[in-house]
Amino acid sequence: MQIAIIGGGAAGFFSAIHVKENFPDAFLVIYEKSDKTLSKVKVSGGGRCNLTNGCTDINDFSEAYPRGARQLRKAFGHFDNKDTMRWFEDRGVPLVIQDDNCVFPASQNSQSIIDCFMNEAKRLNIKIELNAGIIGVEPIGNQIELEFEKGSKVFDKVIVATGGSPKRAGLAWLENMGHEIEEPVPSLFTFNMPSENIKTLMGIVVENPSISIQGTKLKSDGPLLITHWGMSGPAVLKLSAYGARILSDLNYEFKIQVNWVNIRQTESVLDDLYAVVLRNSNKLLLNFRPYSLPERLWHYLLERGGLSKELTWGQLGKKSLNKLVNILTNDVYTVSGKTTFKEEFVTCGGVSLSSIDFKTMQSKVCPNLYFAGEVMDIDGITGGYNFQAAWTTAFIAGKLL
Ligand SMILES: Cc1cc2nc3c(=O)[nH]c(=O)nc-3n(C[C@H](O)[C@H](O)[C@H](O)COP(=O)(O)OP(=O)(O)OC[C@H]3O[C@@H](n4cnc5c(N)ncnc54)[C@H](O)[C@@H]3O)c2cc1C
Repeated sequence: MQIAIIGGGAAGFFSAIHVKENFPDAFLVIYEKSDKTLSKVKVSGGGRCNLTNGCTDINDFSEAYPRGARQLRKAFGHFDNKDTMRWFEDRGVPLVIQDDNCVFPASQNSQSIIDCFMNEAKRLNIKIELNAGIIGVEPIGNQIELEFEKGSKVFDKVIVATGGSPKRAGLAWLENMGHEIEEPVPSLFTFNMPSENIKTLMGIVVENPSISIQGTKLKSDGPLLITHWGMSGPAVLKLSAYGARILSDLNYEFKIQVNWVNIRQTESVLDDLYAVVLRNSNKLLLNFRPYSLPERLWHYLLERGGLSKELTWGQLGKKSLNKLVNILTNDVYTVSGKTTFKEEFVTCGGVSLSSIDFKTMQSKVCPNLYFAGEVMDIDGITGGYNFQAAWTTAFIAGKLL
C-alpha cells in the first residue's frame, strides 16, 4: 500500500506514526511544503508546547471547542487527553500538569516533542520530503493522484494534514474536489481599545469578571488582563474564540459590557454595598474596596463613576450607590480592532465537518482521502486543546478505515 500524508506538522506526524504502526509494510511519505517540519510545535506554548489539557470532565473538555465539540466528544472515546499523556510518557517524554491543567513536557522545551516524533519516524521508516508542496489532488478510480509544482504521483490512501488556512483560496484545491468550506476567520485574539483610558491600568489582572458583547448573546467569564492596547486574558480569548465569526462580521468594531463582580442581579450588588456602608461608614471610598477589586481598578472605577475618593462610605446616598452598582456591573467599553494573542493564531473555519465521516476521518466526496488537524473546521480555546484535537483526529485517520 502506498500512503501519502500532506503536511509535516503535529497532525501529519501523529497520523504517520499511527499509520505505520497499523500497517508496518506500507510505504509512507510525508510531504511538507516548507523546508522544516513541526515548526508550529517548535514555537507552541512560548517554546514549551502545551500539548494537551489535564481536564478530567468530558463535558468541560468538549466545551473548550467552539467548533467541532460534538464530533470531538465522540472521537475522544478513541483517543483522549489521558491517551495523549500516556503516549508521550511511554515514549520517554515525561510530562507535567500545571495548576491551570495545561500539560507540558517536563523539560519545558518543545524540542522534546519534536525529538520524540523524529525518533519514531526513524524507527518506523517514515520518509519525509521537504519543499514538496501539494497543489492539487485528483481521484483516479480508487487511487489518488497528488500534483506537485513539477510532476505528480499516485497513492492508495492520502491523509490531508495541512493545518489552518487563513484564506479560503488556500483551500481551493479541496473545495474544487467538492468539499464544503466554512469561511476561514481568525480565532483567539485580544481586544484593542484605542479610545479607552482603561489602558492606563495595564498589567492589572481581575480574577473573575464576566464580559459580554452588546447586541449579541456572547458572554464569558474568567481572569481578565488589562493591557497597553486594551483587554486580554482567558475571559477575552474565550469570547474571541466563541464569537470568532460574529466579531469578524462586525469588522471587530463593537462594545463590551464588563461586570467586574460577576454578579448578575444588581439588587444583590446593591445589598452588598449597603452592608459595606453599615460596617464601614467612616472609611473613605479610597480605603475600602468591595469584592477585593484591585486597588488601581477600584480608584479608576470611582473616577469613572464621578465619585470622589475622599467621600466616606457613610456619605453615599442612594443615587451614588446606584451609580456604583451600575459601574460595577455594566461598565461599557468600545472595542476597535484586534491583536493576535502571542502569535498563537488559530483558524476558525476550514473543511466543513459535513464533508467528513468523523468515525473514520474519511472524506465523504473522495474515498481513500482522510483529514486530520486544523485543516478542518475545528478549533479550541487556549490550554492545549488545539493540539489535542490534532492528536485525536490523527489517531483516527491513522487507522485508514
Ligand atoms: C505560535 C503558536 C503557538 C501555539 N501554541 C499552542 C499550544 O501551546 N497548544 C495548543 O494546543 N495549540 C497551540 N497552537 C495551535 C497549534 O499549533 C495548531 O492547532 C496545530 O499545530 C495544528 O496542527 P496541524 O498539524 O493541523 O497543522 P500545522 O501544525 O499548521 O501543520 C501543517 C503543516 O502542513 C504544511 N502544509 C500546508 N499546506 C501544504 C501543502 N499544500 N503541501 C505540503 N505541506 C503543506 C505546513 O507547512 C505545516 O508544516 C499554537 C499556534 C501558534 C501559531
